[in-house]
Amino acid sequence: MNLEEIEVALGRTRSKVEGWGMSTHSESVVRFPESVEDLKELFAAARKDGISVAFRGTGCSYGDASLNDRSLLIDLTRFNKIKSLDPATGVLVAESGVTLEQNWRQSVTQGYWPPVVSGTMYPTLGGLLSMNVHGKNNWKHGTIGEHVQSFRMLTIDGEELSCSPEENGEIFHAAIGGFGMLGCFTEVTLKLKKIYSGNIEVTAVGIRNLGHMIAWMDQHREDFDYLVGWIDCFTAGKSLGRGELHAARYVKEGADPDPKGTMRLSYQDLPSHIMGVFPKAWMWRFMKPIVNDFGMRALNAVKYHSSCRKQTRGAGHLQAHAAFNFLLDYVPDWKKAYLPGGLIQYQSFVPAEKARETHGHLIQLCHRSNLIPYLGVYKRHKPDPFLLTHAVDGFSFAMDFKVTAQNRGQLWDLCHRMDEVVLEAGGRFYFAKDATLESENAHRIWPAEDLQKFARLKQDLDPQALLQTNLSRRLFPEFQTQPSLVASEEG
Ligand SMILES: Cc1cc2nc3c(=O)[nH]c(=O)nc-3n(C[C@H](O)[C@H](O)[C@H](O)COP(=O)(O)OP(=O)(O)OC[C@H]3O[C@@H](n4cnc5c(N)ncnc54)[C@H](O)[C@@H]3O)c2cc1C
Repeated sequence: MNLEEIEVALGRTRSKVEGWGMSTHSESVVRFPESVEDLKELFAAARKDGISVAFRGTGCSYGDASLNDRSLLIDLTRFNKIKSLDPATGVLVAESGVTLEQNWRQSVTQGYWPPVVSGTMYPTLGGLLSMNVHGKNNWKHGTIGEHVQSFRMLTIDGEELSCSPEENGEIFHAAIGGFGMLGCFTEVTLKLKKIYSGNIEVTAVGIRNLGHMIAWMDQHREDFDYLVGWIDCFTAGKSLGRGELHAARYVKEGADPDPKGTMRLSYQDLPSHIMGVFPKAWMWRFMKPIVNDFGMRALNAVKYHSSCRKQTRGAGHLQAHAAFNFLLDYVPDWKKAYLPGGLIQYQSFVPAEKARETHGHLIQLCHRSNLIPYLGVYKRHKPDPFLLTHAVDGFSFAMDFKVTAQNRGQLWDLCHRMDEVVLEAGGRFYFAKDATLESENAHRIWPAEDLQKFARLKQDLDPQALLQTNLSRRLFPEFQTQPSLVASEEG
C-alpha cells in the first residue's frame, strides 16, 4: 500500500518525522494508541492491508531506527503509566512509554535509581529495551536488559506474550536488543538500584592520551561504579585521544548525613538557568556560532586544560545523580546548534586488546579526511546474554559529527572506511546510534547462526514481515522476505 492509501485506510494524514540527530527524515502516518486494545486494532488493520509498522518511543535514536518512511509509525508515548513501585524491593512495573525521567522522579525519593541510564533522561522503557541500552556503568552493571525481570509484548498477530529469562526465554533474549522487530513491548518489570544518597561521589581525571584513558579505566574499574571519558578528537601525535575521565561511585549506606534532603526532587532537578541568569532554553542559540571546526577546536582545548587544572587540585566532589547522569540534558535542544544538517554519532565497540590501536586509527582517519568529531565519549563494556548484543569485553568510542550538505557524502565514505577498521578488529556497532552502516557489514557483526536464529523468531512472531523500520530495511532487507529466507536456509 502506498502512503496515500494508508492515509485513507487509517483515517489520518502524514507527518514529517526525524531521527534524533536530524540528519534522517521520513514521512509517515503516525498513530498514538493509549491501550493494548487500540494497539490490537492498529495491528489488525496493518495485517488486513499488509501495511508495514514501526514503533517509536521518544525518538532518541540518532539515526533511522524509529522511522518508517511512507508507512505506519506507532508512537508509544501515551503508554505512560507507572503501575507500581514496591518500596521494599525497588521493583517497578510500568507501561512501555514511561520515560527514564518519569522513572527516576517516581523512585528517587523512595531511595531507588534506574540501574542503567542513557546520557539523556528522555527515552522510554520500550526504546531502552529494544536497543538494550548501556550506561556509564556497563562493564560493572550490564545493560538495561540484565535488570528486566519480565515484560509483556504484543505480537503483530495480536497475541500477548509474557517473557522473562525463565518464561519464553528465547524471545526474552532476542526481543531485548531486537530493535522493535519482534513485537511491541507494552509493560516492563524492572528492578531498580537501591541508593543511600541522592549524591554520587565523582572524581575527575585529566587524561594525556588514548593509552592513558584505557589504562586508567582498566586499573580502576574495581574502585568505581561509573566510568566515562571525554576525548578531544582534534589532537594528534602523543596527545592523540587526550581528554578527561569521570569516575564515580555510589555513596555507602549511612555516609550521607541528609539522605532525605539529597533525594528530594528539588535537589535533583537540573538548573533552569545558566549562572542563575540566562534561561537554558536559549543556550543552543549561543552555541550555534561556535559549532564549527574553529570554535570546537578551541572549546575542546579549553575544556582539556581546565580538566588538568582541576586534577592537580585533586577534585573529588559530590554531585546529584541526575546532574551526573544526564549532563547532555543540561542545555535543552543543544542538537539544534547543529542545524541545518544535524549530526550523526558513530559509536564503535572494540575488544579490549584492540581498542587502543583501533580507536587511535579512527581518529587518524578523521584527521586525514579533515572531518573531526566535535565530541568524543569513551566507555568500558562487558558482554551480555542478549542475541543481537552490541557489547563486547572492551571499549566503545562515540564520535559526534556535524552533517552539512557539503560534507555528507564524504562523511558517509569516512564512516564506511572506519567500519572496515572496526570490523577487522572484531568490533561491533549499535543500532541506537547508527545512520551509515551498510547491510553487508551489519551481517559481519554477529555469527550467521545468531542472525538466522533471530530471523526464525521473527518469522514465527511476524509471519507477514510487517514490522520494519528504515534501519531494518537498510541493514536487513531479508527480514521483509522471511519465508524465502528460512526456506533457502533449510534447503
Ligand atoms: C543525547 C543522547 C544520549 C544517549 N546516550 C545513550 C547512552 O549513554 N547509552 C545508550 O545505550 N544509548 C544512548 N542513547 C540512545 C538511546 O538511549 C536509545 O536510542 C533509546 O532506544 C531511545 O529510546 P526511545 O524511547 O527514544 O526510542 P526510539 O528512538 O523512539 O526507538 C528506538 C527503537 O525502539 C523501538 N521501540 C520503541 N518503543 C518500542 C516498544 N514499545 N516496543 C518495541 N519496540 C519499541 C523502535 O522501533 C526503535 O527500533 C542516547 C541518545 C541521546 C539522544
